[in-house]
Amino acid sequence: MKILVINSGSSSLKYQLFDMEKEQVLAKGVCDRIGIPNSFIRHIYNGNEFRKEVELKDHNDAIREVLNALTDKEHGVIKSMDEITSVGHRVVHGGEKFYRSVIIDDEVLKTIEECIELAPLHNGPNMIGIKACMKLMPNTPMVAVFDTAFHQTMPKKAYMYALPYSLYEKNGIRRYGFHGTSHKYVAERAAALLNRPIEELKIVTCHLGNGSSICAVKNGKSVDTSMGYTPLAGVPMGTRSGDIDPAILISLIERDKYDSTMLNELLNKKSGVLGISGISSDFRDLDEAAEKGDEKAELALEIFAYQVKKYIGAYAAAMGGIDVLVFTAGIGENNPGMRKRIVSGLEFLGIEIDDEKNMQKGEERDISTPHAKVKTFVIPTNEELAIARETMRLVSSN
Ligand code: AMP
Repeated sequence: MKILVINSGSSSLKYQLFDMEKEQVLAKGVCDRIGIPNSFIRHIYNGNEFRKEVELKDHNDAIREVLNALTDKEHGVIKSMDEITSVGHRVVHGGEKFYRSVIIDDEVLKTIEECIELAPLHNGPNMIGIKACMKLMPNTPMVAVFDTAFHQTMPKKAYMYALPYSLYEKNGIRRYGFHGTSHKYVAERAAALLNRPIEELKIVTCHLGNGSSICAVKNGKSVDTSMGYTPLAGVPMGTRSGDIDPAILISLIERDKYDSTMLNELLNKKSGVLGISGISSDFRDLDEAAEKGDEKAELALEIFAYQVKKYIGAYAAAMGGIDVLVFTAGIGENNPGMRKRIVSGLEFLGIEIDDEKNMQKGEERDISTPHAKVKTFVIPTNEELAIARETMRLVSSN
């Protein structure tokens, strides 16, 4: 069974084609600068890379190029697009309607469209990608996998904000949480590595990348997570502020005449570790600067580690304990210094990592000391594979 996974953004469209027998990636790539000059496709297959400058007026053009690349005589990996059994689409926001992945039909399309107002930057482009794919592959089943779905198990006390209840009823203002596909994937991998049923574990998963979120996974279900109504909430990120006192916004509006565009730019693009350091949103640059003695870079790293540490403690409290701590995504997987900063001081919870194991590079690994009560794992996330698995499960059972 061959499954195509599509992650469609506003001006780019990423894809991966899986052979599900061995869960092997046959080809992957990206169509970039869709709708803007100098658009191109970058296609990676059998260890080779092929790049073509091609006009991509819209997402229909992009999907057509993807199918051309996949079936191309020279760079292709399949003979015809009929070999693609089904397509899995990443959809950022499923609102309260979608608590799991679904096969896409007209009803589902309508409901995803209704969720656009909750995440206009993401769901709009996701929808365009789905529609373009359906147009070019009308007989191929499509599945939507939602970033929010895994968190739909949160209890009301965790997802409600202390605002007038009518804002929840009328505007859907509540915590939704994001990165759900990743948190679910690494939590399940952690249980598998321990060879224990996930139903008996209390796991804190830390997805730390350009966007970061922490999740409390109790008995296999998300019971709380740090992102909220939007992916702006929680810990500070590359360029996003994370949690701040909401009255700061009122002050900026009243004192400095900020409007919604300026606030959006400030909180999403100019804050986080970039805002604090004034240097970069990339933790590699910050590590380098901090090592050379830059105080603001050091402060940005300290603030990030402190906030992640607080969430781990909070979620241990929320679950009544913690058995497993998981680090994933760009920083979680590749930055041993940040992992060390985060866990130091958490020995009282039973979290202790081995410095040597922490420094080793590799795939899934246990970095805890032999006597640590809590297992600390580094588990590379694989959202595309998780989407492909979900797609296969739904299409096979239908
Ligand atoms: P992500 O959004 O998951 O791609 O993560 C981006 C962040 O991860 C950046 O701040 C990078 O500093 C960090 N990162 C990604 N890859 C590496 C790597 N190979 N080594 C060190 N840091 C990395």
